[in-house]
Amino acid sequence: MTLQEAQNQVDEWIRTYGVRYFSELTNMAVLTEEVGELARVMSRRYGDQSFKAGENQDPADEMADVLWVLLCLANQTGVNLTEAFQKNLEKKTKRDHDRHHNNPKLQS
Ligand SMILES: [Mg+2]
Repeated sequence: MTLQEAQNQVDEWIRTYGVRYFSELTNMAVLTEEVGELARVMSRRYGDQSFKAGENQDPADEMADVLWVLLCLANQTGVNLTEAFQKNLEKKTKRDHDRHHNNPKLQS
């Protein structure tokens, strides 16, 4: 699935099952909430905390929740994520093409 297909699929789902998008600010809050849920799974799985009974332990599911809301925000603010990601990748490549290779902290 391409990013554009994912944006289209979310839009179709919202129109079919969601009635309409939550407002941009509501979805911004939901995105923050979902990032927190991902952080909770990561801190329990890879960090020092332990899972409580009944807690979601699947980082993939929480990552998908984060992606879902991000796709909603892109759709409702007119962002083409394919173009945005491509531009962002070019920016990072131009800016950091030798930065990480020259970082002694990354050499081991
Ligand atoms: Mg979640």
